Amino acid sequence: MVAAPAASPAELRADFALLIDGRSVPGESTLEVINPATGAVFAHCPAAGRTQLDQAVGAARQAFSRWSAKSFEERATAIQNMAAVLRTHQDLLAELLTREQGKPIGQSRDEIGRAATQSVGMAAIAIPVEKISEDAERRIELRYRPLGVVGIITPWNAPINLAAGPLTAALYTGNTVILKPSPYTPLTTLKLGELLRDVFPPGVINFLAGGDELGQWMTEHAGIDKISFTGSVATGKKVMASAAGTLKRLTLELGGNDAAIVLDDVDPQAVAARLFFAACVNSGQVCMAIKRIYAHERIYAALCEALAAEARKARLGDGLDPQTQFGPIQNKKQYERVVAILEDARSRGARILAGGELPDRPGYFVPPTVITDIDEHSRLVREEQFGPLIPVLKFSDEEDVIRRANDTRFGLAGSVWSRDPERAAAVAQRLEVGTAWVNQHRATAATVPFGGAKESGIGRQYSILGLKANMEAQVVSVLKQAM
Ligand code: NAD
Repeated sequence: MVAAPAASPAELRADFALLIDGRSVPGESTLEVINPATGAVFAHCPAAGRTQLDQAVGAARQAFSRWSAKSFEERATAIQNMAAVLRTHQDLLAELLTREQGKPIGQSRDEIGRAATQSVGMAAIAIPVEKISEDAERRIELRYRPLGVVGIITPWNAPINLAAGPLTAALYTGNTVILKPSPYTPLTTLKLGELLRDVFPPGVINFLAGGDELGQWMTEHAGIDKISFTGSVATGKKVMASAAGTLKRLTLELGGNDAAIVLDDVDPQAVAARLFFAACVNSGQVCMAIKRIYAHERIYAALCEALAAEARKARLGDGLDPQTQFGPIQNKKQYERVVAILEDARSRGARILAGGELPDRPGYFVPPTVITDIDEHSRLVREEQFGPLIPVLKFSDEEDVIRRANDTRFGLAGSVWSRDPERAAAVAQRLEVGTAWVNQHRATAATVPFGGAKESGIGRQYSILGLKANMEAQVVSVLKQAM
């Protein structure tokens, strides 16, 4: 791997600011941001210190009383305006997203567009007062009140899409927000904050970049009422432990090790492209990517070959090149982890059917790689690879494959593929996951809850469940007697 030279200081971008109380402000320090397609620093990003976090929390608490007093309709209008900003600036944001994250430019545009669509969809969900009972004597109803200040912490694989869901859910339900992106991909989020400065009243949204320690301070902060966290299982556990100090509400969207089970009646040629895409999109750096494929022995060889044919066609490169289908791994640490997982599989005698050779070029590139005949105890099967490596395992018995698919602490999602969708559905509902798909993978919508079973998370994003997770349920019980 050849190291790329750093850009000269004059070429570095530094046109970024934190958003605190409706003002764009510099940080107390700076972070270097690397373009993963070159391995070179291309921007400096402001980083917030503790005092700035305190200022942002103070502003958010101050703004809460007026924002929470607005109607759902008024807040939905603000969310629609946010979506309009995302759409108007889609190209500018997408270019920046590809530069810092690495994904192909078309997929960055999709991410921005999807953030807009999902936000509008969520802000159209009604949260009515629920009547539990009413008779001549008494009325009992269930109302939902906003929590206060919500801290949102996002990862580096889809920073805008993964911010938009929790941001919309918190704001639409009447909360104010502190949003912290990953230090690896802070720029598009800060640029969005700048563009949204006048869309929300001062203090309603505060966007702070910073290192992991800023996330830790947020989880400890007595002025923050809830943390909406998306990231790894290991960090999710730290967030939960730290949030216990102030009994913060929590939504945790964590990692996955999704299995796709391909039954014996499937035409391998018909499913291979879909399975391949669901495993390797964004170079496998998707929480709900397919991370293990279990194929019935009758179609195993043909499916492996069809997947390998897809991998051989893959065009790897800089995401800014419109021909690129697969960009780099987002950062050096993750690149080294993916390479170590590949080497572990190789050293245990797995067969690399396609891919597997690391290109000799700057940046963190790993080609889509199809791996067969793999030991089920390999890291690639047991861990979340979060890279474009697809293990394909063989099964002969449905009970056995359900057991193997469920034999993990992860429980984000899974899928079952068959010529007969109802036969597949009967298997899918036995998967210990938050979402079980049939003949598809990675299909989500604003009105459909998404989240993990087991160690893949706590709570749900999107849908009425995701909205209510930003609210406290309040019983109002009225005894109809004059006193
Ligand atoms: P990460 O856990 O390393 O970091 C996520 C965020 O947490 C970053 O902003 C980071 O700065 C912050 N952070 C780090 N330490 C912290 C601490 N002690 N307290 C508070 N915040 C802290 O995750 P990552 O590597 O950025 O993202 C990849 C992971 O995210 C994968 O496991 C992936 O599956 C998961 N993910 C899950 C979903 C989902 O919806 N379930 C979606 C996307 C990604």
